[in-house]
Amino acid sequence: MAKLNENFSRLKKNYLFIEIAKRIKAYSEAHPEEAKKLIRMGIGDVTRPLAPVVVEAMQKACAEMGVRETFRGYEDSGAGYDFLKDAVSNYYKSFGADVAPDEIRISDGAKSDCGNIIDIFGSGNIVLVTDPAYPVYVDSNIMNGNDVIYADSTEENGFAAMPDKSVKADLIYLCSPNNPTGSVYNKAQLKEWVDYALENNAVIIYDAAYEAFITEDEIPRSIFCIEGAKKCAIEICSLSKTAGFTGTRCGYTVIPNELIQKDSAGNDVKLADIWARRQGSKFNGVSYPVQRGAEAVFSPEGQKQCKENIAYYQENARVIASTCDELGIKYTGGVNSPYIWLKCPNGLDSWAFFDKLLTEIQVVGTPGAGFGKNGDGWFRLTAFGTHEATREAMERLKGLLK
Ligand SMILES: *Cc1c(COP(=O)(O)O)cnc(C)c1O
Repeated sequence: MAKLNENFSRLKKNYLFIEIAKRIKAYSEAHPEEAKKLIRMGIGDVTRPLAPVVVEAMQKACAEMGVRETFRGYEDSGAGYDFLKDAVSNYYKSFGADVAPDEIRISDGAKSDCGNIIDIFGSGNIVLVTDPAYPVYVDSNIMNGNDVIYADSTEENGFAAMPDKSVKADLIYLCSPNNPTGSVYNKAQLKEWVDYALENNAVIIYDAAYEAFITEDEIPRSIFCIEGAKKCAIEICSLSKTAGFTGTRCGYTVIPNELIQKDSAGNDVKLADIWARRQGSKFNGVSYPVQRGAEAVFSPEGQKQCKENIAYYQENARVIASTCDELGIKYTGGVNSPYIWLKCPNGLDSWAFFDKLLTEIQVVGTPGAGFGKNGDGWFRLTAFGTHEATREAMERLKGLLK
């Protein structure tokens, strides 16, 4: 008989988006006319199309694949072509982080690397995750048989949990700008985390998927803008939100050459080496046309075009945030993030507020409770819609709450 990985039974049910869909369906069936007015501000997916230079680069690469002389099969290393690693390295340089091409591995997106990275760590680690959080960090640890402890992100700390020196974590997951709360760590706060990690010989897994949304100069775009981070951090990033690659699939993970831990026999182990071994065994790289498309993202014209799309979402975030200001609703995010994380008015819990918006103004958001216990009483709206729908939804919200 095949024995199963029974850790799967310890996972929380994938309840959030199923429950949202169920409530929308029930409402739509009972109120078909009103349901035509539904505005969805819950989904964390982009809506703007790929930048034209990206499409051109992929088309050209596809044509190369159809010609014997320029056809490409397996990539030698599976770590990404030099042209793309060089482009990512230069991109890091542009915001003051020193990352060499050989410290970068190209991936098919941040979710897989966030989930798979746990393979290089043993059992018995104290794993620290901020609450609320993107569910992958917890789920991947549970699947591997690990338990997780939490650092509370709350209204009091601006949803930016800080280290508790009495807790000795071995692995720490941080995400800034944060999904779902839109909060960001400044340099001093990140330095505190880096110092804490160095003191405990811990490793930080830093999810920078939303770095391109940072507008304030003093907010670091990478953990490698912080002194000491190369000795304790892995950074995982993606073109999904930066360049609309959610359906195209490309990301990159940085493991610095200086990131070294001791094994149980006291030998130094380069984490980049064991991650390379893991990827070499289980991953064969990202398709050539996609890597050419990704390279185009980092060209001057690509940056200009991608920034136009980001500016489009940022205008939505501004509209949502200013509506909250007008209504006296507390929130985090919106400035350096496509998410606005708001406190449900009148002390409503997340799901009661969800139902109120759905049934009274036909606006769908995401109940904060779905991201962790500290999310209850909070609600996530996303800026990934159209200007028209976002403005309309905010007019309705004002009508409802004023
Ligand atoms: C969207 C998102 C990602 C990106 O995932 P991909 O697999 O690259 O599409 C990573 N982390 C967080 C927190 C996200 O919200």
